[in-house]
Amino acid sequence: MRLIFHGPPGVGKGTQAGRISIEQGLSHISSGDLLRAAVDAKTEVGLKAREYIENGLLVPDELIVNIVADKINSAECEKGFILDGFPRNLSQAKVLDSTLGKTGKKIDRVFSFIASEEVIITRIAGRRMCESCGAHYHELFSPPSKENVCDECQSKLFQRKDDYPETIKVRLKVYKEQTEKLIDYYNNKGILEEVDCNGDKAEIQQNIIAGLHSMSKEERDME
Ligand code: AMP
Repeated sequence: MRLIFHGPPGVGKGTQAGRISIEQGLSHISSGDLLRAAVDAKTEVGLKAREYIENGLLVPDELIVNIVADKINSAECEKGFILDGFPRNLSQAKVLDSTLGKTGKKIDRVFSFIASEEVIITRIAGRRMCESCGAHYHELFSPPSKENVCDECQSKLFQRKDDYPETIKVRLKVYKEQTEKLIDYYNNKGILEEVDCNGDKAEIQQNIIAGLHSMSKEERDME
């Protein structure tokens, strides 16, 4: 099963990709995580990508498409994968199609995550991360026991620069201008399914799993 979780930043697709990849035995490919790891490791890609990420802009395609293509072609993705944060524009979507097409594969389903802008801003603005072990928290929905201190390793929590309120606005604008149009691209291919993300995490997960089951049934019916 090869899936894309598509949607604006902060809609919760990363959380769901994490949960569902474990449940379904799929590989979780987050282009944002791959880029942040490159920034932390100060690789050539990371050094070039850092400023774009901190300012809420998309990194140039050439910095990300090869990294994602290598992952998709690796042994860990043989059983399938969930792409989270990729593709972000039409040219990335086309590169993805041609990369998969070379080995006779394709994307089976795109789950399009939808939530109101108010919900998205509340979710992003409250996100905090541990500077040492990377554990995630949320000021309102999953706060640490002690303010600004990680429950796991007692280190300090921080807010990602691209989660600052002024940068959230830029990220949402970039989404509207470049990423949203992929909804039409995948709808025209007949593989798009909408997921209402205004509810809680468990509810959203159930909706996606129901979508996956209907997908397997459709495929069985076609055989
Ligand atoms: P994310 O964690 O998916 O919100 O990504 C964080 C940041 O990484 C984005 O705001 C972009 O700067 C960069 N990024 C992640 N994925 C991509 C992509 N597919 N194309 C371009 N930039 C990306």
